[in-house]
Amino acid sequence: MNQPRVSSINIISVDLPLRQPIVSAVGRYDKWPFIITEITLDNGIVGNSYICPYLVNFTDPIERVIQELFKLFENQPLAPSAFYEIGMNKLSLLGRSGIAMYSLAALDIAFWDASAKVADRPLCEHLGGTLGDVKAYNSGGLWLHTPEQLAQEASELRGEGNFSSLKIRLGRKTLDQDLKAIEAVRSQMNPDDDLLCDFNQVLGFTEARRRLQGLDDQGLYWFEEPIPYHEFRNYNELRQHLSTTLIFGENFHGIDHATLSLELKSSDAIMPDLMRIGGVSGWLKTAALAEAYRKPLSSHLYHEASAHLMRVTPTADYLEWMNWVDPLLIEPYRIKDGRLIIPERPSVGLEFNRNVIEKYRVR
Ligand SMILES: [Mg+2]
Repeated sequence: MNQPRVSSINIISVDLPLRQPIVSAVGRYDKWPFIITEITLDNGIVGNSYICPYLVNFTDPIERVIQELFKLFENQPLAPSAFYEIGMNKLSLLGRSGIAMYSLAALDIAFWDASAKVADRPLCEHLGGTLGDVKAYNSGGLWLHTPEQLAQEASELRGEGNFSSLKIRLGRKTLDQDLKAIEAVRSQMNPDDDLLCDFNQVLGFTEARRRLQGLDDQGLYWFEEPIPYHEFRNYNELRQHLSTTLIFGENFHGIDHATLSLELKSSDAIMPDLMRIGGVSGWLKTAALAEAYRKPLSSHLYHEASAHLMRVTPTADYLEWMNWVDPLLIEPYRIKDGRLIIPERPSVGLEFNRNVIEKYRVR
């Protein structure tokens, strides 16, 4: 059987209002940009992806990089792994990170999606795994709000899918304020539930040492990204003074960063982001690295494709459930009893709502 060839591409950027604004240590966001990439094969099958490049003003330049990279693969027989290697070689001249990496990831995810659709199997099965559910936490709130707001939200977030795991954002002005926030959320949780926390890189190294030691007896499931992501050696130093699991990785740009962090023993666990790590191909390599170093791997955003990948990640731990994308989808993924259910559809099986796209399209 001949492999179908890649024939055309369609890219659409959307700036979608968030149901609840993000109020984090890195700023406030009321909308969230998405770039949707659709690849059509010569047999009519369409593979798609979405990426979230954070800054809406950069959707246009990223679209142009995606278009330019696509020329490498146009009219070629579909071969996602081989395409990734060709793309990464090209990025040697641009830098294997940043918007060049995001653009290659947008293509890579869409190529894999098309490939699994050709096979007519869910992506996890196409990759050699089995269909099933994935342990998840609700990440959709608990920003830097007041303790009263947090208690109310925690109760709502638990109810969204019978979740027993939530993530709170920390990094307020004082340790005491962070402790009060934790107490408010805990008041709505069972004693055995997992409470994760994220500092969004806001602390300096010295403050982080003080703050994390003050929180180390709180029984938090992990401390996420307390200091800037590129301080790999400081992460290693911080880790040596803590008993709570230290995790980062959403800002790893490709496997080079993942490798460096593991070599430097920067953290106890890693959490790659599907876009920044280089799509499905970049994830698979990172999952192999995590296995080699025996480190738990959790996901960041992109819960649909990430869930399929967690099914073939030997050290898979928590899936981040952050459903900002749902209004764009005809049939969003669902949660049951704190676990994400992977639907039995060909590939990732995301179909975009054209009316919503038109309404919020970036012109
Ligand atoms: Mg984070």
